[in-house]
Amino acid sequence: MLRKRVVQIFVLLMILLAFSSVSFAQGSEVAAFAQGSEAIAKVKVNEQPEKVKGNKAADKVKGNEAEGSLTVSNEIIPMTEVRIINIEVDFGYLPDLEELEWTLGGKQFDEWKTWDFDARDYTGDPFILFETEPYLDGTVVKAQIKNELLFDTSSPTSRTIRPRIVDLTGYFDLIVKDIETGIELKRIMRVAPYDSFYLYDEFGDVIDEIKGNVINGRYIEHEVSGKTNEGRDINFVIVAKDKKSVDNYLKKTLPLMLENPEALQEKLKDGTIGDYKVPIWYNNIHPDETIGIDAQIKLMEWFSTQETIEYWTYDDDDRSGIEGDREKTKVSINVDEALDDVILLFNLTQNPDGRYHMVRQNTNGFDLNRDNAFQTQIETQIVTSEIAKWTPLIFLDLHGFYDSMVIDPCTPPHDQNYEYDLLNKNMNPLGYTMGNAAIANSTYTQYRIAQDHWGSGWEDSAPSYTAQYAMHHGALGFTVEMPQINENCNTSTVHLALAAAKYAIDGKDDLFMDQLEIFRRGVQGIDDTEVDEYFVAPDLETVVGRERGNNDNFFPEYYVIPVEKELQRNALEAYNMVEWLLRNGIKVDTLVKSTDVDGITYPAGSYIVPMHQAKRGLANTVLSDGINWSDWPVMYAEIAMVFHDLRGFDRYEVRVEEAFDDNTREVKKMVIPKGNIIIGNDKEVKNADEYVIKNSNNDAIRVVNELLAKGKTVKWILESGDGYSMGDYLVSKTDINNLSNNYVLDLAAVNLTSVKTITLAQPKVSVNGYESTFVLKELGFNLVSRNQADVIVDNSGTELQSGKHYIGVGGGSFTQLKDSSLIPGFDYDRSDDKGRARGEGLLHGIINQNSLITAGYSEEDYLYTTSGSWITSVPEGAQVLASVSDGDDFYKAGWWPGYEGAQGQIFAFTTKIDGASITLFANDLTNRAHPRYSYRFLAQCNICGTT
Ligand SMILES: [Zn+2]
Repeated sequence: MLRKRVVQIFVLLMILLAFSSVSFAQGSEVAAFAQGSEAIAKVKVNEQPEKVKGNKAADKVKGNEAEGSLTVSNEIIPMTEVRIINIEVDFGYLPDLEELEWTLGGKQFDEWKTWDFDARDYTGDPFILFETEPYLDGTVVKAQIKNELLFDTSSPTSRTIRPRIVDLTGYFDLIVKDIETGIELKRIMRVAPYDSFYLYDEFGDVIDEIKGNVINGRYIEHEVSGKTNEGRDINFVIVAKDKKSVDNYLKKTLPLMLENPEALQEKLKDGTIGDYKVPIWYNNIHPDETIGIDAQIKLMEWFSTQETIEYWTYDDDDRSGIEGDREKTKVSINVDEALDDVILLFNLTQNPDGRYHMVRQNTNGFDLNRDNAFQTQIETQIVTSEIAKWTPLIFLDLHGFYDSMVIDPCTPPHDQNYEYDLLNKNMNPLGYTMGNAAIANSTYTQYRIAQDHWGSGWEDSAPSYTAQYAMHHGALGFTVEMPQINENCNTSTVHLALAAAKYAIDGKDDLFMDQLEIFRRGVQGIDDTEVDEYFVAPDLETVVGRERGNNDNFFPEYYVIPVEKELQRNALEAYNMVEWLLRNGIKVDTLVKSTDVDGITYPAGSYIVPMHQAKRGLANTVLSDGINWSDWPVMYAEIAMVFHDLRGFDRYEVRVEEAFDDNTREVKKMVIPKGNIIIGNDKEVKNADEYVIKNSNNDAIRVVNELLAKGKTVKWILESGDGYSMGDYLVSKTDINNLSNNYVLDLAAVNLTSVKTITLAQPKVSVNGYESTFVLKELGFNLVSRNQADVIVDNSGTELQSGKHYIGVGGGSFTQLKDSSLIPGFDYDRSDDKGRARGEGLLHGIINQNSLITAGYSEEDYLYTTSGSWITSVPEGAQVLASVSDGDDFYKAGWWPGYEGAQGQIFAFTTKIDGASITLFANDLTNRAHPRYSYRFLAQCNICGTT
């Protein structure tokens, strides 16, 4: 174990080295705390010590106004390690020890208490005590203080305690006061979870300091990619040799990579490519997995301010992931030389609001690491568009906390839209390279490569996760799970990330060649069968390859997304889809003249997604029909993308080569035309006094809510006739012309003097569940407290109360509802729970055509669930709203072992109890705010509540 000990000393030295070089951040700098303390204020804890307020170094310098000095051996009191700090106090005269008062943040040391898990407050044993009581050495007063573990652990990773680590994080005045003379000496100390920890509000100052210390003319640029839901900056930092390197990559190399990768491959082969650099992207998305951010800051600092970086690794062929008694080797990186090869990108966190509040989710309650494909949240929209823009070669998403370090590549099943052979060829060895550095420079002794050491259960079947999303941009994309919250883990993570950079520096040409090959296959429309061996059956051995059906090529030639009414049922979602594609770096064209293909005439103005393009895999992932992977034993989360069905627009797959050549123009930016888009017969629309708003998309709901909120008259049409249908809305032309927002509406003008209608009032809705809250807000509903509500929308099954209209959303609410016995005659069944995802299915359904709740849906239409349940019995007299189709092909896409049980079963019903309507949906109408096509079920049910 001698070797281990030597290494530990080395690690310690490394930490100390790193420490001294960032001492500005900890020692001479006081971060802005005005905002920081707001977050603290929300936390209810007893008599907190007083943090130092104010900005930057000024306060710090002000510390010692009196003659004399107060020095400490370390300025940081860490919550996760026991530390003894030597204090020396020199008043310039001989003080009486008995007359000295010692305080930190205005409290005596023994008033600082550890967390009491029962009381849920800082009322436990003392946190800080004298290790050596003050004594005199000449005229100098010496003492030692020692801190205990604030949360009784060296790694406060538990979800309940994690948010608490910001409570006491901050700067505090250490004051030694001579009561006799009134003289006090002061210095500022920091209390933090670990030495390298930073609060969100400190990021700007830390980056500024690093920028101030940059050497050799290196380029460090701090950008703000955008603002979060609560208005915080998404911080993005570029470290490179110089600005020219960055411009060259973005303006010269990258366009060629995507447009003509083969030309670059030729230049690489014949040695004429010249100077080029590849970007490596470091990311965090779960900010309470704190080391994922702090490790980036350390790495950013090293690459900006160090001449060389040295570290240990295991440079052997061992694939056990276990340290054992393997031989360490030392690696040295000359940073200036390294920056001839790489550009480093630091996206400190995709969720700044989460770091501020120290939670995983964003402030709408969403886990952003399930939102990278759906992109319903602003933070994800901003970051994915940056990833698309940069097209990094390596992408690390840094997470915690698993007992053992876990590193991608993933287990099967893999998304078949990846060029998996090219990705895995480099990802697998890079995984080991990172793991080796992580254990060689920390006290950890083991890591797991998911693909090799786990076999299954850690799949990359959908780009919901940031790293898996980045793989669609040709990146070697890794989700990395680290084990702990403390300095040791942070150090380990820094070295893991450093090893990825070294891997790119050493293998740049080969890695770049493979990334270009991914794009070449795309641009040239090649479906290479080399990839097939990675797509296996659940036995993990039988190769099934890409599922091509009757086609030679897995990928179609084009997708067409028309907007004209004849071919498009939902122009709003068609526009939204084009916007999504462009944001994600996917080339979209528009037809300049109408074109016949396979007997369909696509009108001018239709959008065309040409599939001969570098990033066709991502386009196909979201626009293809999805896959039934229910025979796999476990899945990590949802896998059904199928945007056209789940968001409810028409898209056409075209397999005719060069079908639209010369008839298209590239769309650079999609702008939904100004003014409300009115689809329908122009002349009739112009001359009418009243309009029918067709119940065909979610903007119809938004307009109804806007008008009702303004006190305007909206009538709901109760019957179908020529040019209108039950569930459409009737409004005045003046009101439509005065709408405040831009909507995509399907309007019709017809003579409706004798039609049956009811006049609507805006429902007051109380919601339980973050997804439904987000969706109903987005649709413009008036959300109120439960007491004020007409209607209760509930994803949990716990909010049902007598006399109020009630909507239970998703099978997840069924257990509680059944147990409550408040709905006599209701019963349900579900498939067995397996893993994290309970059972996801895009299903063919049969929709009741005689209900206002289901108006606007076709008799045969889609249902979507993620809770794996169905209804087996409804109350007497209940009206069934939707059932699963009885046909054998009722299941279209997803992962739901046991889905067979749902065939032909009831999925939604409505009934009346005590005069209130009770409606239950087995469909998860608002799941992750993705299935927008289902929203009108919920919206109309809300509106029904007031009729
Ligand atoms: Zn995570």
